[in-house]
Amino acid sequence: MEITLPKCKAHESHTCEFFCKQCEAVICGKCLVSFHKKHEVEDLEDLCKSKGELIAKEHDMVRNAISLYQQLEMDIAVEEQVMKDQYRIIETDIVIHAEKLEAAVKKAKEQFLEQVIEKRVDDVLLLEQQRKDVIRNLEEARSMELFLPDRLDTCEKILSFCKLEVKSLPPVPKLQRISPPEFVPDTDHLERINDHFGNLVI
Ligand SMILES: [Zn+2]
Ligand SMILES: [Zn+2]
Repeated sequence: MEITLPKCKAHESHTCEFFCKQCEAVICGKCLVSFHKKHEVEDLEDLCKSKGELIAKEHDMVRNAISLYQQLEMDIAVEEQVMKDQYRIIETDIVIHAEKLEAAVKKAKEQFLEQVIEKRVDDVLLLEQQRKDVIRNLEEARSMELFLPDRLDTCEKILSFCKLEVKSLPPVPKLQRISPPEFVPDTDHLERINDHFGNLVI
């Protein structure tokens, strides 16, 4: 690349071809042999070229970095979308899983209640059956009592009693004990519900 060299301010017809390091000034050939005679100088064109190359290199580096950052910015935007989708999926999965567990708990509750209701119906039947038997037997015993003379204070009463006229007393039944079921909840399981819910692999 061609570099335009400046005119000398002291010698208008001359072009500056040197750089005086001591004065930090651009100078021409005439300056070089006069005022700057013993000063250390550099070729101005060479100096500009090497410095220009450094600047161009720096510019390349910066441009590279910018394009890399732009790429990273786009990558992050893609990553963000993927991340959002994944989180949405995970959250949905947890909710669905929890709903399944809730449904399972609801089903277990219904099954337990159903069993208890069945047992209660049986127990109520058994109790009612026993009550009926007792009432019937009680009636029978009362009706038998009517045949028996109240007071045995005369020979006639005693002698007139005929055993055959009285039916035999039904046996007194033994009451069957009714024991409602006992419910023993598994509370350990409840306390460890987090462990049993699943694993969050992070
Ligand atoms: Zn000059
Ligand atoms: Zn000088």
